[in-house]
Parts: sequence; C-alpha cells; structure tokens
Amino acid sequence: MEMTKNYTDSQDAEAQEELLQDSDCCGNGCTHCILDNKPRPSNRVLLAGKRNVILSYTKFRLLRRDSLGGQVLLLHFGHAAEEEEKVEAETGTEDTVLDIPPGHHVMMRVGSLLRPYSPYWSDFLAKEFRILVKLQRGGPMSRHLAVVRPNDLLEFRGPIGQYLHDPTEAKCIYILAQGVAIAPTLPLVRQVLENEEDMSRLWHLVCARDLQHVYFREELLEFAHFWNYRSCLYLPHQQCESAACQEAGHCDQECPNLRRSLRYRETAKMSRLDASGLATHANPSIPGKRVLIVAGDSNFQRTMAQSAIHSLAVDPAHVYLL
Ligand SMILES: Cc1cc2nc3c(=O)[nH]c(=O)nc-3n(C[C@H](O)[C@H](O)[C@H](O)COP(=O)(O)OP(=O)(O)OC[C@H]3O[C@@H](n4cnc5c(N)ncnc54)[C@H](O)[C@@H]3O)c2cc1C
Repeated sequence: MEMTKNYTDSQDAEAQEELLQDSDCCGNGCTHCILDNKPRPSNRVLLAGKRNVILSYTKFRLLRRDSLGGQVLLLHFGHAAEEEEKVEAETGTEDTVLDIPPGHHVMMRVGSLLRPYSPYWSDFLAKEFRILVKLQRGGPMSRHLAVVRPNDLLEFRGPIGQYLHDPTEAKCIYILAQGVAIAPTLPLVRQVLENEEDMSRLWHLVCARDLQHVYFREELLEFAHFWNYRSCLYLPHQQCESAACQEAGHCDQECPNLRRSLRYRETAKMSRLDASGLATHANPSIPGKRVLIVAGDSNFQRTMAQSAIHSLAVDPAHVYLL
C-alpha cells in the first residue's frame, strides 16, 4: 500500500512538472483537447503501483506496418526502452506499464507537428499498441507516416480522454462508428464483453462505404458470439456486378450477391444510418440507462448525437464523442 502511495506521489509530481502549454494542442479541434484533459495516472496504474510510460512524450518503435490498401495502414508500436529499462525488463524489476484506457487517444509528435490517434489495441505489460491510420492527401503527418518503416522511432503522449465505463451498472450502450474510426470503438466493446459480470448490452452500428471498407470484420464476427452484442453495417455504396445493381448504383437490400457476401450473424443495410435507422435499435422494452458513443469526423458526431437523443431517447449527458 505504502509503495503504491509513493508511486502516486511521484507520478503526480511528474505530471505536474510537465505543464501544458497552448502549443501542446494539435489544433484539430478534438472533442477532448489535451489542454482540458491532461494525461494522468489511471486507477489501474495506481493499483499496479507502476508508472505509465506514455504520460509524457516517450519514444515508441514501429514493430510492424501493414498496408490495407486505399491509403489505410495498421501500425504496431512498442515502447523503446532505455538501457536501464532493458536491464530491469531482463531482471523482472520493471516499474513501468502502458495504460491507454478504452475511449482515449494519444498524441503523436514529429518535430513540432502534433496529431491525435486512437489505439484499437494496447498491451499493459508489453507496452505495445496499434493504430489504424487513413492517410490524408496532402496532409503533413500523412506524408510522414506514408514512409515510416519498422524500427523507426516515433514519439507519443497520452492518454487523453474522459470516457469511463462503470461495469456494475447494466446499461444499453450504442456505439456508432464511421469508416476507420471503428478502430477506437473496439476496446470499448471488448471492455464490456470480456467482463462476464458486466450485464450491459451493446449495439455496434458501423457505417462504411461498402463491405470492402468495413475494417476489423473478423473481430466483429467474434463479438457476435456474445449474448449482449448486436451489430449492423450501413453500406450505402455497396455494389455488385449484376446489371440491376450496376444500373441502380448500389445493391438492393434483397440482392442475392449481397446476401452471399454476408457471413453468419452479419446484418447489413444498404443505406446511410439516419434517425429512422437509429430508431429501429431503440428496444424500449429493455431497461437500463442509454449511453451513446460516437466515433467519426465532427460532422458525423454532431449529426448522430442530435438524431440519437430523439431516436434512442439518450440523455445528452450520456453522449460521448470520441
Ligand atoms: C481525437 C482524434 C483521434 C483521431 N484518431 C485517428 C486515428 O486513429 N486514425 C487516423 O487515421 N486518424 C485519426 N485522427 C485524424 C488524425 O489526427 C489526422 O488528422 C490525420 O492522420 C491526418 O493528418 P495529416 O497531418 O496528414 O493531415 P491534416 O492536416 O490533419 O488534414 C489534411 C486534410 O484532411 C482532412 N482530414 C483529416 N482527417 C480526416 C478524416 N478522418 N476524415 C476526412 N478528412 C480528414 C482535413 O480536414 C484536411 O483537409 C484523429 C483525430 C482526432 C481529432
């Protein structure tokens, strides 16, 4: 207990030392700006009595880089240990962990360029994390990330965010994701499904151009084995080779080719998600507080939050924009 307290004191002191300045903000208009959400030790870290390596800018080594095509990359990073830390790792006396709670993002720094990214996976003890990146044409960080290679070092700081899930209260959690922003929603889903005592139910509504642009499809199919998970894909631009669908510009809801492309327990709608689509998931007979989490660009977040407040009867106080 005393040891935990000492770590707490030293972490607080460390966090205080790294004062935030206006230049720490990336200027991207993040809902949870680093200036209002200073990276702090979480309860998990305090309980472990360790230091979270990412609280101030720290070097991570690119361990793996996979291209998913269409300018989308999977990047896997591992903490680049200093010599002293390598010895500690060998002798099992390490005092650091990597804690990026679900719903939090990290800031990447290259020189004076800052951009936020949302890990879809992280390992507390191995101090590794993964991000899904969509390169933006002409974007300064995209230019840099387009050429990163395994073994390159990059700096990150975090975790930044506010979302906190209480597993003791059974809730109806609606998670809406757009395109690559499905990535940060995966830890939120896992957090509920991996805890057998968590009685919350999840509705994962995933918006993508078409099936080809649904990332982490295998993982969604794994989630579908759980009693408390439902998902629905919204694919307004899904188009097969049939003459009818080519002429219409997209597949019909009953298109046989589309049906064949869907896997067991996969549900898809050939339309954009809107207020009426949201209302079909309301399930008023299921009790529990309604919580809405929206991951996507600011326009998607705003539109979905406004619609869900009416269509799903979510109290605005329980809406979280990632
Ligand atoms: C909280 C938060 C978390 C984020 N997490 C991720 C993540 O996990 N993976 C990821 O790839 N990106 C993520 N982003 C976006 C990321 O921070 C960068 O903006 C993006 O990588 C492009 O950086 P850039 O410097 O190349 O271009 P920028 O200078 O940022 O942007 C170049 C152009 O692309 C547009 N643009 C930027 N991002 C998008 C987008 N997502 N959709 C459409 N247009 C866009 C900009 O408006 C601008 O016109 C996140 C953003 C926020 C606010």
